[in-house]
Amino acid sequence: MTDALSLVDDWGPEKIVVVSHRRTGMKGVLVIDNTARGMGKGGTRMSPTVTVGEVARLARVMTWKWAGVDLFYGGAKAGIVADPASRDKEAILRAFARALSNEVPREYVMGLDMGLTESDAAFIQDELGDRGAAVGTPGHLGGVAYDKLGVTGYGLAEAADAAAQHLGQPLAGSRVAVQGFGAVGSAAARRLAELGATVVAVSTAHGALHDPAGLDVTELLAARDEHGDHFVTRHHRGTRLPCGSELTVDCDILVPAALQDVIQRPTAQHIKARLVVEGANLPTSPEAQGLLAERGITVVPDFVANAGGVVAAAFAMDSRYSGFRPDTATIFETISTRLRANTVTVLDEARRQGTTPHTAGRSLAEERVRTAMRSKGRIPPA
Ligand code: NAD
Repeated sequence: MTDALSLVDDWGPEKIVVVSHRRTGMKGVLVIDNTARGMGKGGTRMSPTVTVGEVARLARVMTWKWAGVDLFYGGAKAGIVADPASRDKEAILRAFARALSNEVPREYVMGLDMGLTESDAAFIQDELGDRGAAVGTPGHLGGVAYDKLGVTGYGLAEAADAAAQHLGQPLAGSRVAVQGFGAVGSAAARRLAELGATVVAVSTAHGALHDPAGLDVTELLAARDEHGDHFVTRHHRGTRLPCGSELTVDCDILVPAALQDVIQRPTAQHIKARLVVEGANLPTSPEAQGLLAERGITVVPDFVANAGGVVAAAFAMDSRYSGFRPDTATIFETISTRLRANTVTVLDEARRQGTTPHTAGRSLAEERVRTAMRSKGRIPPA
């Protein structure tokens, strides 16, 4: 059991709201981490195992992510303890949204994270009777359907390309392994293949597929559409490997795009890629980051590499009151420009400071947040 007060440090959280509803069995939490640069925005996760501590860690990642891409929103995240496959999902979501009607949308705007879909975002909007309550709603409701568009995976591939060029190891012809073939992993694989990379391994919760000569991403996407995450057990190409082995296959670039905390020191010891680009939030422990740096492996941090979703969310948030649907081409262009530039800045800074990209990226983001806190009088002048 997390002691909520033990989560508080110099940055936040500013607010933790735990809510429950007896009749639907809804239990959930909102963590608003730091709003010095703008109101809280971060996805809402639904999982049977979600905890206050997990949501707080993810809210902190959001603080750095917004500041890293230099957009004016603050770190926040919400979590609902429930099975996303539950038949009561809609009732639970509506109860959660109602319970947070003091905070949403004035202090926090809901969005999609694991377990939530576009139609869930539509229910949340409906429940709170305000089109600003959630982003990630379907296009026919004027939203930016970012999981369908694959904005986060697209941005991740752009960041990977910029990082590969920075290392003098062009992306075209590189061999890539992708853990997780959901919204982020599949869109990343698609864009990486478009940029000329060869995808040699992919995985889902049901296993991994490996072919050193390259898997056909178009075929994989079609198989996933037909069989869901089970496609890895039905696909006729490649060798089946157990879950987790995709992290250590022979490749040039590794994209963990499934779960947090999957790369600890023992796995980091066996990673063969020269470049790791984090699609999931918090996939690599600080100890593993240190070991990878010692082994000469570059890691593009989560809050840099998977920020495509926040760029799209910023467009969606900014269009809430204008009613104009943001233009998709502009969203993609902005994601590419911002993520490429930020990747290079962070890798340059890491080189200059002689530290890991996580430390360097965080120090750049911290400086922006600290400046905002100071100018709002939240901390004493320097
Ligand atoms: P998703 O639910 O669409 O997909 C998750 C994928 O991971 C599925 O293919 C699932 O089978 C697979 N998976 C689960 N456990 C696994 C395991 N042990 N080994 C291999 N694969 C496994 O989720 P998503 O939206 O793609 O999010 C993935 C990660 O990216 C999460 O950490 C999320 O917080 C992060 N993220 C998502 C977005 C976004 O826009 N969706 C943005 C930023 C960060």
